[in-house]
Amino acid sequence: MPRPSSDILAPIRDKVEAGERLTFDDGLLLESPEVPLPELGELANIVRERKNGNAGYYNINTHLNATNICVYRCTFCAFRSDLRDAKGYWMQDEEILKRGAEATENGCTEMHIVGGLHHQAKYDWYRKVVSLLHDNYPSLHLKAWTPVEIDWFARLTKKPIRWVLEDQKEAGLGSLPGGGAEIFHPEIRGQICEHKADSSRWFETHREAHRLGLRSNCTMLYGHIEQPYHRIDHLIRLRDHQDAMNAEGHAGFQTYIPLAFHPENNKLGEERKIKKPSALMDLRQMAIARLMLDNIDHIKAYWIMLGVGTAQLSLAYGADDIDGTVRHELIYHDAGATTPEVMSVEQIQRLIREAGREPIERDTLYRRVDRGAEGWKLGEKIAVNA
Ligand code: SF4
Repeated sequence: MPRPSSDILAPIRDKVEAGERLTFDDGLLLESPEVPLPELGELANIVRERKNGNAGYYNINTHLNATNICVYRCTFCAFRSDLRDAKGYWMQDEEILKRGAEATENGCTEMHIVGGLHHQAKYDWYRKVVSLLHDNYPSLHLKAWTPVEIDWFARLTKKPIRWVLEDQKEAGLGSLPGGGAEIFHPEIRGQICEHKADSSRWFETHREAHRLGLRSNCTMLYGHIEQPYHRIDHLIRLRDHQDAMNAEGHAGFQTYIPLAFHPENNKLGEERKIKKPSALMDLRQMAIARLMLDNIDHIKAYWIMLGVGTAQLSLAYGADDIDGTVRHELIYHDAGATTPEVMSVEQIQRLIREAGREPIERDTLYRRVDRGAEGWKLGEKIAVNA
């Protein structure tokens, strides 16, 4: 029997139970502090279990940020460096190959590759990052480059985005990560990253990727100067994109990852005196995303950024995925994240089990990964209910 619901949530509960889509105004209501968080979580959990049952997905992965030197100055970024800063670095072939070898030795199925837009790096260097890794470690899935980087490559080569994506695919690109989305609404985007690829370029990149058969993820950076209106607008833009791709017969986004703003060592946090979002805000954003994004299969609680405890709790607030073991994460640690730099498989499995979920190792494209004495092999594609 359904539990009694607060009056304020009753109409939304009816829609969720009937599998109906929530509107922009419904989303705004869910943002209201008057909506009790436990009830919101319970609603999100209905959708989460309908889609993904009791599964708690994770992968064995590693990160590569091949340079932190960047021509842009996004105000929320603590990772970037100027050309002559002491902290600036630019990896060359040997170091990149070393990372590939380390990833393979650690049983990784995925390498997540993003970084800065180096003033002096030619497009060929970015292409080589992918081709070197792919040619030498073909079992590693390379999830690389946000639309901000793809847009930069298009500028460097004076070619269309589609050409860049085709060329990267030929070099070994496996899929696109979800970064660079920040907040799409121009009222906010203009204040936090006015120079880099705008929302139409971001969507164009994912559209072309999806049309080429590449899967991708999507994100939102919340908890800074945006308002609830901007967040719901952001989610609905993602949902509309997914509808459009599905209507064309393309699979589109796999996973949405809400990213909490970290205020340390960046201009936005320091000048505006912004505090890191609370765990309750994190859980609310997780639950709202699960409820609004009815056409995206997975919601990820990225433990590096949320903290291990909140990520674990998120598995009851709409999330079905907790990301991976991770190694060499710099972007959030530079901005003050105090999470560990890597988690073991045993730790990840334990925290998923403690949350009452069944740990399932997946690869980047959500195929089961079976491990044995001989190494790992891919199993069947994981089914998600509509
Ligand atoms: S967020 Fe990306 S594009 Fe913006 S400054 Fe940082 S590294 Fe550069």
